[in-house]
Amino acid sequence: MHRRIIAPGALTAAVLLLAIPASAASYAPGAPGIGDPYYPAYGNGGYDVSHYDLRLKYQPATDELEGTATLVARTTQDLSRFNLDFLLDVDEVRVGGAKASFRTSGEHELEVTPKTPLAKGTPVTVVVRYRGVPSSKQAYGFTSWHRTPDGGVAANEPEAAAWWFPSNDHPLDKATYDVSVLVPDGTQAISNGTLQSTSSRLGWTRWNWRSDKPQATYLATLAVGKFDITTGTTESGIPVLNAYSKDLGANAGSARASLERTGEVADFLAGYFGPYPYNALGGYVPNTTTGYALETQTRPYYSPRQFANGSNVSVVVHELAHQWYGDVVSLKRWEDIWIHEGFARYAQWLWSEHEGEGTAQELADYVYASHPADDSFWTVKPGDPGPDNQFDIAVYDRGALAVQALRNEIGDEAFFAILKGWPQKHAYGNASVADFQRYAEEVSGKPLAALFDTWLFQPSKPATSAARTASVATSGGPVTQPKSWKKIAATNGAHGHAERGTGGREH
Ligand SMILES: [Zn+2]
Repeated sequence: MHRRIIAPGALTAAVLLLAIPASAASYAPGAPGIGDPYYPAYGNGGYDVSHYDLRLKYQPATDELEGTATLVARTTQDLSRFNLDFLLDVDEVRVGGAKASFRTSGEHELEVTPKTPLAKGTPVTVVVRYRGVPSSKQAYGFTSWHRTPDGGVAANEPEAAAWWFPSNDHPLDKATYDVSVLVPDGTQAISNGTLQSTSSRLGWTRWNWRSDKPQATYLATLAVGKFDITTGTTESGIPVLNAYSKDLGANAGSARASLERTGEVADFLAGYFGPYPYNALGGYVPNTTTGYALETQTRPYYSPRQFANGSNVSVVVHELAHQWYGDVVSLKRWEDIWIHEGFARYAQWLWSEHEGEGTAQELADYVYASHPADDSFWTVKPGDPGPDNQFDIAVYDRGALAVQALRNEIGDEAFFAILKGWPQKHAYGNASVADFQRYAEEVSGKPLAALFDTWLFQPSKPATSAARTASVATSGGPVTQPKSWKKIAATNGAHGHAERGTGGREH
């Protein structure tokens, strides 16, 4: 018995040794990008990560981050070398336990050459030891690491990971995460998922977080600082953990009055989108000076500025809606951003209706009426806006108007079946606008190519006739501004996630 178990393994090893020289020509470097036309260098080719284990130490006084990232992956082609996306300073890389050689290239590439080439389909463990000051690193002229008076925060879209861990930085490669961070006693480290444990020793406290469902790299977050933490449970039984910087000043009350409604909002959204897809909920408000919010998985990031005019439940609705539309089902390419933002904005319209501050139909009518045909608003195609307009207001407002047009075309029964069915159909995976159209056609039994083309893919205002067909008001006269309009507009800074380039685009 013993011999029979050993023999096939030995035989396989011998065959492999013989096979490598013969097929050496097939071993090639993995692509430096995963193939996204908007961001050609984002992500990488040749492997797929299933788990990130990040064991870090962070010193708030100096912004020094050091640690070890262990990536559990599998090759998808014969690889002579492969890339990671990363900006900090690397001390050592090991692949399958053996030291690998490495060098940096491009804006954020770390090229890793393993000691021996990797055959397609091989499970591989990559260990990267690193250190650095994240706020000192830039790619494309900006940083996604927000330094705060008491620490730092990684939160941005489409990119934030490279400032704190090496990864295959594109939503197509989702993975589970264990994030363990050592910080000085009295300081907190906040991340995604559930807080598994904390432990203190010699003046340092370790925070152990686990995100146990597939998560895109840009949805992984880390915030270190001095936070007040609240915990609770939703009506439906999901544990909620919120964290507020102790340094929010006059925004402290309004931030709590908003985020403490996270459970209520999640239950409201579950009524439309189906069961909440994760085992943890919450949000955090660090003392950053940015204006936006971001749907970091299970625990969105909110800038304090979102609460400068009082409570803002609408932004909580938006970011939590993304947990279904964006997080559990993520885009395939960044051009598919409408399946995130069109629906997160539409959720705000549904909340407005729930609050008696204007129906989704009234909000849609207002978007159509308030932008004349020559407004550049209509030149942005929500179905393929281009990288420069990815977070343009039109992706949100015109995007949600398109959702209402779809609803009117296929009727409430089919529409709400689609809203609820979509997150389950592609749960924990990726999908495109085309996939959504196909699914909507399948559920409604109606051809929808013309509707999608008119409302999402034309660089012009849909004609009055098209609007009439889609039951969007075309009176031509002034349309009353719904009561919720200004409140929703005030969250616009929330959805323009990225501050790309030195100009700093905030919406
Ligand atoms: Zn959004």
